[in-house]
Amino acid sequence: SSRWSLNGTTALVTGGTRGIGHAVVEELAEFGVSVYTCSRNQEELNACLKQWKEKGFSVHGSFCDVSSRTQREKLIEQVASAFNGKLNILVNNVGTNSRKPTIEYTVEDYSKVMTTNLDSVYHLCQLAYPLLRASGNGSIVFISSVAALTNIGSGTIYAASKAAINQLTKNLACEWAKDNIRANCVAPWYTKTSLVEHLLENKDFVNEVISRTPIKRIGEAHEVSSLVAFLCLPAASYITGQIIAVDGGFTANGFE
Ligand code: NDP
Repeated sequence: SSRWSLNGTTALVTGGTRGIGHAVVEELAEFGVSVYTCSRNQEELNACLKQWKEKGFSVHGSFCDVSSRTQREKLIEQVASAFNGKLNILVNNVGTNSRKPTIEYTVEDYSKVMTTNLDSVYHLCQLAYPLLRASGNGSIVFISSVAALTNIGSGTIYAASKAAINQLTKNLACEWAKDNIRANCVAPWYTKTSLVEHLLENKDFVNEVISRTPIKRIGEAHEVSSLVAFLCLPAASYITGQIIAVDGGFTANGFE
């Protein structure tokens, strides 16, 4: 039924060429969404767009480094013109990390992680707001992390940036409910993507992660994208302001 379809709706998914963003683009496209995405590698983006076209998906995309204010403005202009000034779904997916002890972080480290993870997301919400409102039925999904819920040793800047996203989720859910815009957040635990490839190559590290995870394995990107799509469906119309972990039970596991 139409409660379980997104046919005819539109979405912007940041960072769709790899990992969780790539899975979200495909998941939404499968539900009938016209998707717009971006990344910083034009060649990889073109290859993805070609593959999606071959699969029969409606996906557009352009180069954008979301850490740049002017490029964010240009991106939203392109999205507005692609979708006639309306947008149903904004998936704030891009995120980066740099792992160091706190006192070793430089001003540049701090600025890079905060600009990419938080400033970009905050500004994209501001820019997308008129489009989301104009659609009559808007949904924002943030990708934070279990690092925003509990210490996982992933670095304090990352944790703080993701925790800010969690609170942004709750506040926007309340502020924009009157505009028929919902806001929810998905918090993944270790998921097989290029972001954490270098960590997952370390067998001891993986074993430690798995030992803390009731479902004894690392997550897959499509196990995160399924929740993102669910949160955008009409079936989720009364769900807003929520932070949901996709973590194999990790955050439920106080002691083992
Ligand atoms: P990946 O690094 O595998 O993929 C990131 C995607 O975003 C790529 O398409 C990348 O393309 C694009 N991207 C990165 N930086 C920018 C930028 N500045 N502007 C535009 N596009 C950009 O990451 P994941 O899929 O693992 O992560 C997605 C989200 O999930 C992040 O917010 C991350 O913090 C979060 N997360 C991931 C976890 C994991 O274990 N993987 C766990 C918890 C949270 P390009 O580099 O070419 O620009």
